Amino acid sequence: MSLHSIKFRIENAEKSAGVIKGSTQLLAVSKVQPNSKVLNVLNQGHNLFGENKVQESFGKWPMFRESFPDAEVHLIGPLQSNKVKQAVELFNAIHTLDRLKLAQKLSNEIQSQGKAPDMFIQINSGEEDQKSGIIPSDADKFIADCRSLDLPIKGLMVIPPVNDEPSLHFGLLRAIAHRNGLAGLSMGMSNDFESAIAMGATHVRVGSAIFGERDYS
Ligand SMILES: *Cc1c(COP(=O)(O)O)cnc(C)c1O
Repeated sequence: MSLHSIKFRIENAEKSAGVIKGSTQLLAVSKVQPNSKVLNVLNQGHNLFGENKVQESFGKWPMFRESFPDAEVHLIGPLQSNKVKQAVELFNAIHTLDRLKLAQKLSNEIQSQGKAPDMFIQINSGEEDQKSGIIPSDADKFIADCRSLDLPIKGLMVIPPVNDEPSLHFGLLRAIAHRNGLAGLSMGMSNDFESAIAMGATHVRVGSAIFGERDYS
């Protein structure tokens, strides 16, 4: 696969879903990938990326941004409270707001830096113990709490359970977003981004299908 072929598949999925061409944001998930591959995608003019670790992102994005000042990076992995300051500094958006303590810290940090990344609330739609996120029945209250902290909540994010039909979870995410007046839906990865677009995804997070398998060795 390549960036080009993924963009082509996204366009086709948009066409089938009857949504405006180019309305789906593609986050090229560059975590763990070698800098040469990330540079290759930057050189093709792509400027939206997803990373899942604060530390790793600091090791590459300040450097890449010297040559590509328009590059946007979104945090899609869990955020520890002690990394909030760095996260607000570096990221254009945070997709993993998943607890009230974190919301409060983010709110304070945004006040002090005068800079606010867009926020997505992670929903644990499968109510899995090992996964972070707000369970669906707590979502409306959590969204209201975040709004009362003045956080710029743009939407919701989900990672469906591996063995479930993903569209059920995408549909649930969309329902929660709609009833709360949220437009953003961060859902869909390499294996299911087309069905996510069919269900209204605004942000798909595609890693291995663009860059190849991650080499953790
Ligand atoms: C790694 C990751 C992705 C990308 O996964 P691929 O299967 O490589 O497309 C998407 N979302 C999150 C939250 C991730 O951690």
